[in-house]
Amino acid sequence: MTQVQDYIRTIVDFPKPGIMFRDVTTLFSNPRGFRMAVDQLLHPYAGRRIDVVVGLEARGFILGGAVAHQLGTGFVPIRKKGKLPGTVISEAYTLEYGEAVVEVHDDAIAAGQTVLIVDDLLATGGTAEAGIKLVERLGGQIAGCAFVVDLPDLGGRKRLEAMGIEVHALCA
Ligand code: IMP
Repeated sequence: MTQVQDYIRTIVDFPKPGIMFRDVTTLFSNPRGFRMAVDQLLHPYAGRRIDVVVGLEARGFILGGAVAHQLGTGFVPIRKKGKLPGTVISEAYTLEYGEAVVEVHDDAIAAGQTVLIVDDLLATGGTAEAGIKLVERLGGQIAGCAFVVDLPDLGGRKRLEAMGIEVHALCA
């Protein structure tokens, strides 16, 4: 039977030589694959209290929006610096070369709300950790982080679990 991972293709040497890029656009464009991915992402959280789904730019918006719709929650985007129009809080994190900054509207999550973070892929965990910090600075409580792909050799799962975060991934 076809599984989520069968719909994901690997593009060699993108965005630069030596990188094997996991391309989930082929998963998103397939009706069965997309539904399967969304259903499996939310499955561990169905029946649990989730107030808000947070998606990490950009593929986390596509998945997170669908998960929020299914769970009947609102959706909040965490975006790269300078994209959100309202008042934001920011969190910087380290990339292989340099630094990136992500932001969330400072009124997007209320203190005490339970939050599920969604993204397509977990690598080093830097992006997710920055997202977690933003949510926690607003007083949100992380129910878990859900990803389609986990690349365990890059240490993201260990990094998030060391913070006490529940990590759920559909394939490696
Ligand atoms: P991390 O911060 O190192 O965990 O990298 C994860 C972030 O980079 C996520 O937002 C992913 O969308 C993106 N990313 C890194 N590698 C890939 C890949 O191979 N395919 C798709 N997205 C990737």
